[in-house]
Amino acid sequence: MDSKRNILLTPGPATTTETVKMAQIVPDICPREKEFCELMAEIRNDLLKIINADKKKYTTVLFGGSGTAVMESVITSVIDEEKELLILINGAYGDRMRKIAETYSIPFKTLEYESDQSINFTDVNSYLQSNSDIGYIAMVHHETTTGILNSIGSFSELGKKYGHTLILDAISSYAGVPINLEATPIDYLMSTSNKCIQGMPGLAFIIGNKSKLVQLKNWPTRSFYLSLYDQYDYMEKSGQMRFTPPVQVIYALRKAIDEYFKEGGMNRYKRYKKNWQTLRNGLQKLGYEFLLDPKDESHILLTVIEPNNQNFNYSKLHDYLNQRGFTIYPGKINDKNTFRVSNMGAIDHVDIDHFLITLGLAMDEMDIKIED
Ligand SMILES: *Cc1c(COP(=O)(O)O)cnc(C)c1O
Repeated sequence: MDSKRNILLTPGPATTTETVKMAQIVPDICPREKEFCELMAEIRNDLLKIINADKKKYTTVLFGGSGTAVMESVITSVIDEEKELLILINGAYGDRMRKIAETYSIPFKTLEYESDQSINFTDVNSYLQSNSDIGYIAMVHHETTTGILNSIGSFSELGKKYGHTLILDAISSYAGVPINLEATPIDYLMSTSNKCIQGMPGLAFIIGNKSKLVQLKNWPTRSFYLSLYDQYDYMEKSGQMRFTPPVQVIYALRKAIDEYFKEGGMNRYKRYKKNWQTLRNGLQKLGYEFLLDPKDESHILLTVIEPNNQNFNYSKLHDYLNQRGFTIYPGKINDKNTFRVSNMGAIDHVDIDHFLITLGLAMDEMDIKIED
């Protein structure tokens, strides 16, 4: 069976291979069977390897749900009542952490930056120096709102310097940008099955520092389903998830991880970077401008500024491209109308070239010319 190949240029879910899609077609199985527990044990272990997390120090906790589920799990589970959480925000996903903290009345502060500016760690350092109430810091690694990459190195360093617990949303950078937890330790790192690891949506995970995880035992539980300690403890004891896992998604993830190791992490990074370069050059040739300074770019997603042309109509353009198998994504940054084109997933520079040709045709048809 061949399904029609759509190219998702969206900030997730990403395009998957035919083999990953097909890996979901398996005999029905009860996820409490030993065979399935072994599969989950392997996956938990392999997810550590991808970011060089030592299994003596770290473990993986799985949850059924999208990325926001693990953001909510970590924020509701790891903050005690003694210290406050500092959330560093430069986009919608950082702001989502703030909303979660607000929803559960978790004590927090924020430092906010413009969406087109990366987080300023000199500034964060001064803040931490004069605010001893903080005990936790949270940040988004790759802000998928714009495609900006915040420095994991500076983040990790500050955590070490102040002894604070670090929470990193690496949902759209994990497996797409090299991360090495030996070099840059993080206490709780979150990601999902459906972004740069190139699996199906439905599973989210937390890679957690075991010495911190065990301390959560006697802490306040604010969520029943998303309790990180309870899920961790149950998985350690039984090898199972507490509640029904997305079985077929987990089979697909097994395949996606195999394909990741086969390609190699550095090669994946290079492929994404080449996709990004092809995209950037091509869009520039068509006259488009971008939101970010190239030095801040993740190489995974571009925020394109809508041209100042009366014939330009985002939804018409989206539909034209979508009918031809390419999906782009809207985005409004401050006062600027923009759209987003991501280059993660099982796609290469040839797909990007096809996209650029199709975009050029769309612009001719809609009579959009971008003046210098
Ligand atoms: C995709 C994404 C999430 C999770 O969003 P869901 O819609 O819950 O999958 C969180 N953070 C970042 C940075 C993301 O890119």
